Amino acid sequence: MSSYLKDLDYSVVQQCMHCGMCLPTCPTYMETKLERNSPRGRISLMRAIADGQLEAKKAFSDEMYFCLGCLACETACPAGVDYTQLFEMARAEAERKVGKQSPPRRLFRWFLLDVLFHQQWRLRLVGKFLWYYQASGLQGLVRSSGILRLLPKSLRGLEAKTPTIKQHFSPDLIEPEEAPGSRRPPGDGQPAYRVGLLTGCVQDLIYSDVNRDTADVLLANGCTVVTPATQGCCGSLHAHNGEYEMAKAYARRLLDHFDVENLDAIITNAAGCGSHLKHFDRLLKDDPAYAAKAVQWSEKVKDISEWLGEINFRAPEKSPTKARVTYHDACHLCHGQKITVQPRELLKKIPGLDVAPLTESMWCCGSAGIYNLIQPEMAAKLQQRKIDHIAATGASIVATGNPGCLLQIQNGLAARGTKIEAMHPVTLLAQAYRSER
Ligand code: SF4
Ligand code: SF4
Repeated sequence: MSSYLKDLDYSVVQQCMHCGMCLPTCPTYMETKLERNSPRGRISLMRAIADGQLEAKKAFSDEMYFCLGCLACETACPAGVDYTQLFEMARAEAERKVGKQSPPRRLFRWFLLDVLFHQQWRLRLVGKFLWYYQASGLQGLVRSSGILRLLPKSLRGLEAKTPTIKQHFSPDLIEPEEAPGSRRPPGDGQPAYRVGLLTGCVQDLIYSDVNRDTADVLLANGCTVVTPATQGCCGSLHAHNGEYEMAKAYARRLLDHFDVENLDAIITNAAGCGSHLKHFDRLLKDDPAYAAKAVQWSEKVKDISEWLGEINFRAPEKSPTKARVTYHDACHLCHGQKITVQPRELLKKIPGLDVAPLTESMWCCGSAGIYNLIQPEMAAKLQQRKIDHIAATGASIVATGNPGCLLQIQNGLAARGTKIEAMHPVTLLAQAYRSER
């Protein structure tokens, strides 16, 4: 059986010089203080497999799934270790060698990654069902009836984490093509740019309003917005969870949906997706039919805050919100894409907002894709740590640019019983533009 780690360029495998500078930035190491839970320990395991000194067994797989994939170690590393690649290859290795051993786990992953996320219509169908379940009050009845106590603890935990589904998904809210001046908020004359908008998979179900906000902000800044109604999952969930071949297939499908050559930028408002989308060039480099388009794509993918910074977005004249706001850096924005300044600048340009610093703003909140589902204890510890810091700022709003973080923080705030709101920065900007009318 071939090996992802043995096939990986050896210059990537041997970058680590064991200095340990990454250790204090690693959330799992700092919780356990065990070397094997550190970036250095994990990289040693990966290298031992690449060198043929170790076989990927269950202990290796468990360790790779205890890692958050937060990439804080990559930011801290003076040797330029490419932990993104190592992590993806290590999880793919774990799936190839160990993943098939546990039938319940296989069933869960098959349903989630192969069935649900494979076609957007399936996800939307489940989303519609959940919306009816929640909006009709059935969810409240089921919860208060005590029937959920009959479920295994893991399923009870899953039910409690079910996000609130929006009644309308992105295609109901955004036309396939919108030009400045064509709708709210008022545009600034002639379109200066033509951009594609990615609406995501989970984002489309639970934060479709953020997609609308993103389109509005782009329109207000002279961008014609092209939003294909069916786009599908970008495959970041698959790449981060060891399904590398599936991730490639999803990347090809997404490329087919956009006329990349005739767009100035492709905009994402989900940090976890953005950091994966920017690597399509690497993902498809050996695919002769897609490699060139993937390179163009990777050059044009921009986080919304990054794009707004590049085009020197217009500061709103007023805002309906007067509040202290703090900002949580989503790992895949600050570590994965090195974007930290632009979202803060965005917030500072909105009148009425007092931007307060957040202690450990770059420390993972425990969301990390589906980490909070598969490692609930560690995820809960990190969530509490984040909520403690947010509460200490005295802010009434915490802004963050990733749906997973938004959900994790919203759940943590609700459990704490605070009135602090968690919002995407682009929502605050869209609200400010709308208040100008
Ligand atoms: S990705 Fe995050 S959790 Fe994993 S080793 Fe690096 S710092 Fe630690
Ligand atoms: S990953 Fe980087 S920071 Fe961490 S031990 Fe290796 S070389 Fe040092």
